[in-house]
Amino acid sequence: MPSEFRPVSPREVPRFAGVSTFLRLPLHDDPRDVDVMIIGAPFDGGTSFRPGARFGPRGVRAASALTRGFHPDPGLDLFERLRCCDGGDVLCVPMDLARSIDNIEARVREIADAGAVPAVVGGDHTCSLGALRALAKVHGPLGLVHFDAHSDTYGPAWGVDPHHGTVFRNAVEEGLLRPHDVIQIGLRGPFGTRDDLAFARDKGFTIVSAERVHRDLDAVITRITSMSSDAPYYVSFDVDSVDPSMAPGTGTPVPGGIFSWQALAMVRATRALRVVGCDVMEVSPDLDLNGITSLLAANVLAETLAAIASHRAG
Ligand code: MN
Ligand code: MN
Repeated sequence: MPSEFRPVSPREVPRFAGVSTFLRLPLHDDPRDVDVMIIGAPFDGGTSFRPGARFGPRGVRAASALTRGFHPDPGLDLFERLRCCDGGDVLCVPMDLARSIDNIEARVREIADAGAVPAVVGGDHTCSLGALRALAKVHGPLGLVHFDAHSDTYGPAWGVDPHHGTVFRNAVEEGLLRPHDVIQIGLRGPFGTRDDLAFARDKGFTIVSAERVHRDLDAVITRITSMSSDAPYYVSFDVDSVDPSMAPGTGTPVPGGIFSWQALAMVRATRALRVVGCDVMEVSPDLDLNGITSLLAANVLAETLAAIASHRAG
């Protein structure tokens, strides 16, 4: 067992050296020993346009060599508060969507049952469904802070359900979410039809467009903070919520997105919430430019963990 569940010191091993793990953490299999276990979900069989997110975990591991643990805003060292490890990758089967989601559910369940927080790095957004199924069984229905260009509450495609554009409809229909505690941030048109957001609106989701973030970020942060309660939340970050100029490495980019600093500021605001699980999805390294999307995803991951640490610090 590693003596410390924190990143390898760059004074001992340079950031560019060694075998890549998430945030340079020890690779460790047993969730009972940690507060947070980060796992990869290398699956993109639910993708409707450009595939490649199956390589997301590898890309994010490599890019996360440059993340750091001390966050000046809350003034805390994430790794002093939380014992963290890289739990490796879930076995995902490239041509079997149901089995892949089942395997993600089983691994997340194991982590949550051990009392640790699972952080999932995808993979396409279908992977979130496995995590939500597991966490709802352990914690009951979840609130959700969801960053995305898309609502992901759409209908089946080519007769297939779920896929990466259906997961939050599936989650509501399966009773995994508290719909009035769901906020979707970064959505933007044009949409395929006038009814694209009908499901989300009918269920009572709060929808915050990318444009609204640009016009009044502080109001959006206040909205996130006001969701505060003792109820459990999940934070799901689709990297295509961010503008393609800052996050080009993703399968279905949409111009007019939020900026990376706004994304980080809003993720930081989730420290008001009791977050029991999180993910970063849809990073597709082969479509990236100089690794900037993987780097952003790695920083979003670290920021989410810092928010969890900050919440626990009170
Ligand atoms: Mn998505
Ligand atoms: Mn999306």
